[in-house]
Amino acid sequence: MNDPALMVHGGAWDIPLAERPPHAEGCREAAALGGRILAAGGSALEAVTEAVALMERSGVFDAGSGSVLNADGAVEVDAGVMDGATLRIGAVAAMPRTLHPIRVARLLMDEPELSFLVGEGAVRWADERGIPPVSPESLRHPRELARYETLRAERSTVRRAFSGPIAADRPRGTVGAVARDAGGGLAAACSTGGTPFKPPGRVGDTPVVGSGFFADRQWGAAACTGFGETILKVQLARLACERLIPAGSADAAALEALGALAARAKGLGGLVLIGPYGRPAARWNTPTMAYGRWTPAGVEAECS
Ligand code: ASP
Repeated sequence: MNDPALMVHGGAWDIPLAERPPHAEGCREAAALGGRILAAGGSALEAVTEAVALMERSGVFDAGSGSVLNADGAVEVDAGVMDGATLRIGAVAAMPRTLHPIRVARLLMDEPELSFLVGEGAVRWADERGIPPVSPESLRHPRELARYETLRAERSTVRRAFSGPIAADRPRGTVGAVARDAGGGLAAACSTGGTPFKPPGRVGDTPVVGSGFFADRQWGAAACTGFGETILKVQLARLACERLIPAGSADAAALEALGALAARAKGLGGLVLIGPYGRPAARWNTPTMAYGRWTPAGVEAECS
């Protein structure tokens, strides 16, 4: 089967029961939007970009308007996108005052001599090209402000190193999407606010090509989520894509890649993966992951 298909994720962690229905619903809406684009003959690149942009503005996930706050109580976002046919990449990191980093990354992909911009330079570059910054306050979601205050109170009583034990319940809800279009094109995209209470300037796997996202038409496309410092060690997205053909299916390759994450880096996370043919897969080794799948047969979404 090499029909068009798309898969999104809304983060892998111990998602509280009350937050599971909105996570599943957000994934369903994003998968349905991406699916409509593919069904109308749109490209995998367009489908993943729009699916991620929808999740960035939903406020449900740790991306765009729902981003977690850093140790200064501010939002800094990361995003990346890759086209599997041309191997073009666009990525941005540690961007303040940005609702849709995926749109900046997508625009950057069209620049022949640039791939990756960070911080204020990325904000200025985007502003000059018609994506103006938003106010910092508009990105501080009330849910995340409350989470920040709790973490701040905890940190002032218990001094914990940022890179201490990896807790599966540490909130993370990075978003990502992979797609295959009718022409066999593959693409991957992802976006995050990072980890809660991160030091300002901290960047994880999400905007790093090969770690948070990867797409190569010959192998496959992957978008990852989880504790970025461990995903970076095994370059999870590229690893999963490389394993796709030898493993025989996206599902088997995703499991193998997660096995390496756990064994080599003691990492927790999840990914969505799609190959040049066959069914896309979602796998995780955290208690929960939110995901949505679109195929011509319809949309399914879960947070389990
Ligand atoms: N991977 C992201 C990061 O480390 C977090 C996540 O996936 O939720 O920034």
